[in-house]
Amino acid sequence: MRRRFPVKIRQEQIPILKTNILIQKGGRNSMRHDFSSSCGMPEDIQTQCCIAGGGPAGIMLGYLLARAGVDVVVLEKHADFFRDFRGDTIHPSTMEVLYELGILDAFLRVPHQALYELYVRLNGEHVKVVDFSHLPVHCQYIALMPQWDFLSFLAEAGQKFPSFHLYKNAEVTGLIHEGAQVRGVRARTPGGEQAIYTPLTVGADGRDSVVRLLAGLEVIESGVPIDVLWLRIPKGKEIKEQTLGYFKEGKTMVLIDRDEYYQCGYIIAKGAYEEIRARGLESFRADVLSLAPFLRGYVDAINSWDDIKLLTVQINHLSRWYTDGLLCIGDAAHAMSPAGGVGINLAIQDAVAAANILSGALKKGNVTTVLLKKVQQRREMPARVIQRIQEFIHDKFINAQYEPGPGGNKLTSAFVWVLRHIPILQRIPARVVGMGLRPEHVR
Ligand SMILES: Cc1cc2nc3c(=O)[nH]c(=O)nc-3n(C[C@H](O)[C@H](O)[C@H](O)COP(=O)(O)OP(=O)(O)OC[C@H]3O[C@@H](n4cnc5c(N)ncnc54)[C@H](O)[C@@H]3O)c2cc1C
Repeated sequence: MRRRFPVKIRQEQIPILKTNILIQKGGRNSMRHDFSSSCGMPEDIQTQCCIAGGGPAGIMLGYLLARAGVDVVVLEKHADFFRDFRGDTIHPSTMEVLYELGILDAFLRVPHQALYELYVRLNGEHVKVVDFSHLPVHCQYIALMPQWDFLSFLAEAGQKFPSFHLYKNAEVTGLIHEGAQVRGVRARTPGGEQAIYTPLTVGADGRDSVVRLLAGLEVIESGVPIDVLWLRIPKGKEIKEQTLGYFKEGKTMVLIDRDEYYQCGYIIAKGAYEEIRARGLESFRADVLSLAPFLRGYVDAINSWDDIKLLTVQINHLSRWYTDGLLCIGDAAHAMSPAGGVGINLAIQDAVAAANILSGALKKGNVTTVLLKKVQQRREMPARVIQRIQEFIHDKFINAQYEPGPGGNKLTSAFVWVLRHIPILQRIPARVVGMGLRPEHVR
C-alpha cells in the first residue's frame, strides 16, 4: 500500500560523524580495521573490495556490500563531504531503496524539503511540469537535502556494520597490478602512501575519475554546449519560492532552496564565461533578477566573481566499464549533466545493481569479468538513455535559447504548454526523473 510521508520533517539532526577513531592495526592479510571518518590507515591493508570515491555511488555501494557481509574499504580524497556542487536531489527511487534497507524513517529525520511537484517559470509564468503523486513508491516526492547530509547519513548508517571502513583524506593515485589483473590501489594519505590489496577495485570517483584513466578504459565524450555558474544567493525566510527552473529571453537558471540561501545554477553557453565576466557583475545581477525578480535586494550579496564557480558540464561514457579486477560505476562510468537532476539517482541505482550482482562472489572471493560485465549490461541502457535525453534538453531547450531572434524559447514554450494543458503527461517526466529507467531493488 502506498504511504505518504510528511512534507517536512525537521527533527534532530543526524549526529556528526566521529572523527579520528583509531583503527586496529592489521597486516597485509588482515581484514580487521575499524570505521574511521578521517584517514589513519596504519599500514597496507587487504580487503574484499576497495572503492575509490565517497560520493553517492561509492558510499551506497560500501554500505550495501558491508550489509551483505563483505569487507569493504571506501577511500575519499577529501577530508569531509562538504562539496556543494553535486546537487541535492534525493529521488523517489532512492528513497524506495532506503525503505527496502529499513533506513527510510531515519533518513526522513534529516532536515529536507519535499517537492511533490516541480514548477518552472517560463517568461515569468509559473507552470507545473512534473507531478510525482502517481509514482508507485513510498515517497512520492523529491527530497531536497544538501548532499553532505545525505552522504553523512549513509556513512553513519554504514558504521553499524563491522566490515564497513571509510577513510577520508585518502586519494587514490595508482593501481596495483599482478600481470594484467588489477589487485588493489595506492592511496595518498596524511600518513604517507598506502597500499590496499583487493580482488576488486571499484572506481566511483566521479566524472574526473583517476581510476578509469589509470585502468586505460576508453572514454567516449558527447559534446555539451553548456556550462554552469554555481553560486549562493542568500534569502530571507519570507521568500517561499520553490520553483526549480527559470526560462526567459534566452536565459536559464535553476534555484535549489537550501533554507537560508538558494543554490543557484545559472546556465551559460560553453565558453561564454569570459564574455559574461567582461560585462561585469552589475549586468550578471540584472540577468539573475530578470529571471527571479523576488531576489531584489538579495542579489547584491553577489559582490565578487570569487563567489561564482564555473562548473564544466560533461556527458561521457565508458565503452567498457570494467577490466580484470576493476569496475567503474556512477559518473566514473557515465558522467551526467545536471539537466533533470538525475545523476545522483543513477549513481545509487548503479551501486544497488553492483551489490546485487557481486556480493555473493565477493564473499567467496571469485569475482569474474563475466560478473563485472553483467553490471554494465544491467546499468548501461538506463544511463545511456538518460544521457540522450540530457543531450536533447541541452540542444533543444537550452542551447536553442542562445540563437538570435525570438525563436529561442519556442520549443520550451511548446513543451510547457503541452504539459500544462494535458496534466496527465506530467507523469512522464515524473517517472523519468523520479524513478529513472529500470529501477533497482535491494536483494
Ligand atoms: C553543477 C552540477 C549540478 C548537479 N546537480 C545535480 C542534482 O541536483 N541532482 C542530481 O541527481 N545530479 C546532479 N548532478 C550530477 C551529479 O552530481 C552526479 O551525477 C553524481 O554526483 C554522481 O555521483 P558519483 O558518486 O558517481 O560521483 P561524485 O558525486 O562525483 O563522487 C565522486 C567522489 O569521489 C571522490 N574522488 C575523486 N577522485 C578521487 C580519488 N582519486 N581518490 C579518492 N576519492 C576520489 C570525490 O571527492 C567525490 O567525493 C549535478 C552535476 C553538476 C556538474
